[in-house]
Amino acid sequence: MYLSFIKNDGCENTTFAADLFCMELPLQNIRTATLKNLYQLPEINADVLRLDLIHPAISGNKWFKLKEYLKDAKALHKKIVLTFGGAYSNHILATAVACHEQGFQSVGIIRGEAGAQPSATLQQAREAGMQLYFISRTAYANKTVPDIVWQNHSQESTYLIPEGGFGLKGREGAAEILRTTGLEKYTHILTAVGTGTTLAGLVFAAMPHQQLLGISVLKNNYSLHGAVNSLLPEDRQDQFKILHDFHFGGYAKHTAELFNFMNQWYLQTGIPSDFVYTGKLFFAAAHLIKNNDFEKGSRLLLIHTGGMQGNRSLMPGTLIF
Ligand SMILES: *Cc1c(COP(=O)(O)O)cnc(C)c1O
Repeated sequence: MYLSFIKNDGCENTTFAADLFCMELPLQNIRTATLKNLYQLPEINADVLRLDLIHPAISGNKWFKLKEYLKDAKALHKKIVLTFGGAYSNHILATAVACHEQGFQSVGIIRGEAGAQPSATLQQAREAGMQLYFISRTAYANKTVPDIVWQNHSQESTYLIPEGGFGLKGREGAAEILRTTGLEKYTHILTAVGTGTTLAGLVFAAMPHQQLLGISVLKNNYSLHGAVNSLLPEDRQDQFKILHDFHFGGYAKHTAELFNFMNQWYLQTGIPSDFVYTGKLFFAAAHLIKNNDFEKGSRLLLIHTGGMQGNRSLMPGTLIF
């Protein structure tokens, strides 16, 4: 088990924030004895692309999904970035911190009432300078920006990023995850799926011989396939599969079995995971390998999309890392 750094070459002609967005990506090999213990199937090779290690708050895929939007905002001379999310949203926190680092003001439209005690996620977003506005779930469903926001902030200077970064610019940024030297050898690429933006980017950038598998973390979200297709050109549509059996009850839902697996996985591989996304991804990967779903000799790339901060909402001691 080792960690190596591979070059991300999606950086050409990036004059904007080269330090933030051009980096070497950490890749962790888990194909040694540790994986054997976990799966008893040594002939399957698997590596984890550790996007969780690139920044403590702008975690994993969020970094990639935001970058093209922020470039656009800068090109349009916008001063404020506004986006949407829930109280535990990695996207909200990543946007707040990225905006802070890039010199934008940020505004978060948050689903639901402000609780007496804000979540750790929202607290940290606020510390990064994000102004939060809470709206009812109904208003949120329509992505209504309340009038008070435009009383406090210039609408003309504001750049809107859709919830979860869903959109073509999000896909464009996410595609750069795979434009990394050395990733051509993988036969299967697996990622956790929320809005599908990241999966769309991976499908867009994948080689013809690579199969893309998305693990949906929402229950019965069968509109996801169409949503991913909507971000793809025709010749890339349907070049992926979404599995709906590993949500553990739904978005941010969890069971003792999931926590147990995450702890075991950590003991075996040294890789921490979050209970909303990557824990479910690794569980699914382990399950599929055990089930002999991959041909002998397959090389899997599991994308660790980050999101570790979400574990702060759990009871202390639930996870051993
Ligand atoms: C947001 C998020 C995802 C889902 O990404 P989408 O592009 O919305 O599908 C996956 N993993 C983690 C850790 C995330 O924070």
